[in-house]
Amino acid sequence: MFKYFKKGLLFSLIFILFFTIGACENDDQEDDGKIHVVTTIAQIGEPLSVIGGDLVHVKSLMGPSVDPHLYNATHGDINTLDGADLIFYNGLNLEANMVEIFAEIGKSKPVVAIGETIPKELLLYDEMGSVDPHIWFDIDLWKMALEQAVEELKEFAPEHAETFEKNKEDYFAQLDELKKEAEMLAEIPDEKRVLVTAHDAFGYFGRMHNMKVVGLQGLSTDSEIGVSDIQATIDIIIEYNVPAVFVESSVNEDSIKAVIEGAQDRGVNVSLGGQLFSDAMGEPGTVEGTYIGMYRHNVNAIYEALSKGVEGN
Ligand SMILES: [Zn+2]
Repeated sequence: MFKYFKKGLLFSLIFILFFTIGACENDDQEDDGKIHVVTTIAQIGEPLSVIGGDLVHVKSLMGPSVDPHLYNATHGDINTLDGADLIFYNGLNLEANMVEIFAEIGKSKPVVAIGETIPKELLLYDEMGSVDPHIWFDIDLWKMALEQAVEELKEFAPEHAETFEKNKEDYFAQLDELKKEAEMLAEIPDEKRVLVTAHDAFGYFGRMHNMKVVGLQGLSTDSEIGVSDIQATIDIIIEYNVPAVFVESSVNEDSIKAVIEGAQDRGVNVSLGGQLFSDAMGEPGTVEGTYIGMYRHNVNAIYEALSKGVEGN
């Protein structure tokens, strides 16, 4: 997590270079009269595109299967950020390599880490004291974070504040429905309520839906996975008789496949419960490319795999 301090000077130079070039060729920000919002992850951008409607143009820098922990801004991103009216990112060290860029851009326009507006006592921390940034998996926390973004929109364009408020209330009603729908997870037998994934992205999901969560990697994907991590995970699978484990769309599948094979070597059959969306959503324009669709996909996949057990897919 301290990597970017060491790279600080180089980073600043690259930033200045990109920023200067970016300022000269502002091609994709046509003056369409809309409010230009740029976000890092689509979990922020897609809901804001719903709430902003025709008044707002939203661009998310990190597309499907992109890992935000390791993401570095491209030349095109700097150009896009330069043309934005408002910038929203998750914060809490999720976009670890973009913190300096946001600090710099924040001197000239609103740049808000919406996750960092949530009261600290509602957040989760690992045993080292690092904060868990994956707050979008707690629907109530995500509403609080999105609320801050909507307040910024209202402040930026007070003439549309009423519209934004109305759209937000409609959207939040859908999120409340989603939360109710996810209560189906309570039907999974207690002893099978263990969610094994490639990295620790589901802590908030586990807290909200009363599931034990086991990630092979920690809160970030920037650490190595050792044989001992894999063996410890297999021990848990055996202890809890876990029927299925999950891969994530933004994380390499090899570690989870090693767990399945390792369990087989010890005479235990654990299947692949399918792919979950953790740090990235699906393709834009698909159901899983929306926050609600992504969340529902995960709930259904987990429910199917853990309540009934599935064959690998
Ligand atoms: Zn993550």
